[in-house]
Amino acid sequence: MNIVTLEKVQSYSRDEVRCGIARLLSEFGGMGAFVKPGERVLLKPNMLYAKPPEAAVTTHPAVVAAVIDLVREAGGTPVVGDSPGVGKLSRVAAKCGILEVLEETETELVEFSEPMEAAGDGLFRRIELARPYLEADKVINLPKLKTHGMMTMTCAVKNLFGAVVGTAKAAWHLKAGEDRDLFARMLLEIYLLRKPDLNIVDAIVAMEGDGPGSGDPRSVGVLLAGVNPVSVDMVAAELLGIPKKFLYVERVAEKLGLPGSDRAAIRRCGFPVEEARVSGFRLPPVSDVQWGLPRFLTRRIRNLLTAYPVPFPDRCGLCGICRDACPPGVIEIRNGSLRIDYRKCIRCFCCRELCPSNALGIREGRLLRIINKYI
Ligand code: SF4
Ligand code: SF4
Repeated sequence: MNIVTLEKVQSYSRDEVRCGIARLLSEFGGMGAFVKPGERVLLKPNMLYAKPPEAAVTTHPAVVAAVIDLVREAGGTPVVGDSPGVGKLSRVAAKCGILEVLEETETELVEFSEPMEAAGDGLFRRIELARPYLEADKVINLPKLKTHGMMTMTCAVKNLFGAVVGTAKAAWHLKAGEDRDLFARMLLEIYLLRKPDLNIVDAIVAMEGDGPGSGDPRSVGVLLAGVNPVSVDMVAAELLGIPKKFLYVERVAEKLGLPGSDRAAIRRCGFPVEEARVSGFRLPPVSDVQWGLPRFLTRRIRNLLTAYPVPFPDRCGLCGICRDACPPGVIEIRNGSLRIDYRKCIRCFCCRELCPSNALGIREGRLLRIINKYI
């Protein structure tokens, strides 16, 4: 039975979050249904980069703390790991409040620094993921529900991209290029290489607008859980009212007939999704409208049909983070200003995602701007 549960939780008070997660898991038989005594359980929150919890960029420490407690009670040994987009994991964990929880609960923080080959049988045959992620007895995925400039939404499936070690993420972006469906397929293959045993989504405060790094916190007041991350993401998208045509990961999963992608077969439990639904949730601007158009055409008119990043010189401190993260290396700092070679830019928006100063905006191509008015 493919179950996704949803509970209303209005604040990050430790007690409220813990009770909310316990209620979510009761439908499955509690944490003991997932964790057996003596197992090493890897918790994978979203620790994109060093931002405080109230910025809604990272999974809230209260959610991490509650899951640590429940894993311990089930007899498991929790550890917390990730590979941030920018900076050392310990610094990111300190800023986002998770390090304090780990110290208080004497829980190990595991940097995803050592890659290990995981052979897949999909399109991407050799993918290296972090050794602690592959070797854990159990994995509990703890995504933050946010908008995403390239993929519209980031939740359970996308959060697992953090299992790719450091700079290898850029190489995967480069392989997929501008093809969002191909990038979605790669995300799905990463998930299939090592399926998480449980997904618990922090949507008490989500991010709307220019996610995943520069959007605005939006109170949604919900926690979600499920075993299948594709189904969890589908219910999360319903909650936010995101049309299916913008959900690349879910569309590709459906096309491939992956488990969990049959909406009709998801059993929704707990608080009704329709009653929890938020209205007017702001999505990122649609960044391309190349759906179904022939490649020769989209190549010719791509600047008209796509959105692209533009620097705001007054906010840019020329720190070079975007330049170092840019998968095809098309950002240059020259004569005190930031330059982007748009002919080679693959519109992945990693630069915006990781800029600590919100110094990169999005400019829509002229045709895209017209189309965006009508969709
Ligand atoms: S745009 Fe942002 S990340 Fe890039 S150099 Fe400027 S401040 Fe740094
Ligand atoms: S400039 Fe930004 S959007 Fe373009 S390829 Fe580089 S990181 Fe991606």
